[in-house]
Amino acid sequence: MKKTIRNTLFLLIIAVLFSFLALPKKASAISLSFKYKDITNDKTVTYNGVSPLYYINGSLYNNGTQNAIITDGYAMAPICVFTEGCGAEYSYKSSKKRITLTYKGNTLILYAGSTKASYNGESVTAPISSVRIKYSDTGETTCLVPSRFVAETFGMDYTWTQSTGSVALFTPIELEMDGEQFLYAGTYGKLNYNNTAVDNDTTPSYIVNDNALICLKTISKAIDGLRYDYSSKKKTLSLTYGEITIDMKLGSTDCYVNGLLTICPEAPHYITNPETGKGHVYFPGRFVFETFGFDYSWDSATSWIAENETTGIYDPDFDFMLVYDPDSDTADDAQAGEEHDPSSSASVPSGRRSSFYQMLRFPILEGVRTDLIGIHDDLWNDLVYFDLPGNYIQFYQDNPIVNTGEAVKQVQILYYEDADITRIKMYTKSDDSHVILSHKDLMTDKSMVFLFDKPSCLFDKIIVLDAGHGGEDPGTQHGGYNEKDLNFMIVYTYCRQLFDQSDIKVFYSRYTDYLVPLHDRPTLPARVEADFFVSVHHNSVYSTLKNGTEVYYSVKNTGNFNGLNSAAMASMFLGNLVTTLKTERNGTFGARNYVVVSEENDVPAVLLEIGYMSNPAELKRLVKASFQKKVAKVIFKTVKQIYTTYGR
Ligand SMILES: [Zn+2]
Repeated sequence: MKKTIRNTLFLLIIAVLFSFLALPKKASAISLSFKYKDITNDKTVTYNGVSPLYYINGSLYNNGTQNAIITDGYAMAPICVFTEGCGAEYSYKSSKKRITLTYKGNTLILYAGSTKASYNGESVTAPISSVRIKYSDTGETTCLVPSRFVAETFGMDYTWTQSTGSVALFTPIELEMDGEQFLYAGTYGKLNYNNTAVDNDTTPSYIVNDNALICLKTISKAIDGLRYDYSSKKKTLSLTYGEITIDMKLGSTDCYVNGLLTICPEAPHYITNPETGKGHVYFPGRFVFETFGFDYSWDSATSWIAENETTGIYDPDFDFMLVYDPDSDTADDAQAGEEHDPSSSASVPSGRRSSFYQMLRFPILEGVRTDLIGIHDDLWNDLVYFDLPGNYIQFYQDNPIVNTGEAVKQVQILYYEDADITRIKMYTKSDDSHVILSHKDLMTDKSMVFLFDKPSCLFDKIIVLDAGHGGEDPGTQHGGYNEKDLNFMIVYTYCRQLFDQSDIKVFYSRYTDYLVPLHDRPTLPARVEADFFVSVHHNSVYSTLKNGTEVYYSVKNTGNFNGLNSAAMASMFLGNLVTTLKTERNGTFGARNYVVVSEENDVPAVLLEIGYMSNPAELKRLVKASFQKKVAKVIFKTVKQIYTTYGR
């Protein structure tokens, strides 16, 4: 694959806090010394200290000679900050020492000399008393009120910066977002592009759910090569830069990057400012510009600078491997694939979603039978994979997968020449508590869509099936047969065929012939949020005469599923197995020891011993595909019976 040089455009957004506005950062409150008469307590005070500055909606408010003070760590503002500065109404009744402030229909009453207060008739407590004062040099009379308390009570955004002795106050404004009113009291973002300010006085960036939303009109004028198509009728927004196209819909976090379904952290919105009457389309800045390959930084009061991230194809000197990795340092620009029609995508259930939720869509070459593709969850490696017959390396070079979500850590596409298969691997992230990310696949004729999330967010009924032994542990061996292979055929070949067609999600302890440590198997149900656990084994004794079916459970396991415990589950399985298979009924056994897989489970758990491989006559039946299919059918029917009887 040929490599291209990464984009080096630079986009910077600066929060419009006081320090970035009209006055440079070094503008600070200075220490003052002045006298005032404390009317409330009838004494003259000489104030020596910092007089806080108030920046209101980004501009320094000029409170003239009416200085603010700091008392016991509280910034105390003269009333004019809220009246002239913010538009509140004010009255003072000296006989009751009552200060009445009205702002946007809300009334806050404070008292000079008291922390008693009320807001819209409900009593509240101010952190410090207000005072009625008269400045000695000018003779002006006002009240000093605790400014954070007043501001926050009225729903304003209030930030104190110690180093500059400054208060940044933002008054809430009524905005209309996608037709609904909401009160916005956040900061107003300002855009810098290639170190040049982009004028956006009337269309600032808004912070919604911690995401800066950027005005389409403002930014599209500033960036050459950024093309957009907005349909007010369909409420769709299509953004194109270079060879990447992002298709979005107002109010929806589902979007398409070069036709690949993904999730953006915040939906694009149509935001109208009723004060100006003007509305504009806004989109999540970081998501869009990082997808396009820009460097993007958000600089707030804390001067936090984002890491630079890139998306694209990473090609480590390996001819037959493609990696789509959002975390890689070096990345080629993704090549544009064919335009995909977003409306042709598979329908995706909404509802339960965790913070892991991600969609990933793979284009599939026309003619490939997606219904024949088997999907494997390799839980031990946090891996979901599927195989396509033939070599698809070139196809995915031409139709790249852009993986911008959080759940999928990396996508690898490998071609195995011996087997002539292309394996598509999706490595998922697990969180600290080891919750496994699961997937649910939806097939369409042109693509496969994978949903990644916690299992319980995608499935109602979840169980674990464990094929006993594996790898270097063959289990019991008789007549040239290994127990591990019989267990695997029943569980992963035949049971899987049945469960794949049902609404019951099964997680398997193994997907190939490898050894899962005994003590790891019981940890699966908790990781995948399973309802119960079934392990499949075959038996053996020294006598060649012993035959029949047994079901084990542990008396130490107290797992309970809607009233079903391990003992009751063992009886159900035994009854169904011996009836269908016509094997000897040896019974259920509540073991005190040795049954690690059922004992260490927190959910009802059983271990099936289907029959005796040490009995030559029984072994003959056990190795037959028709018999193994019957066993699988019994397991499937019993699981369904449990859900019918016990619910879910
Ligand atoms: Zn065994």
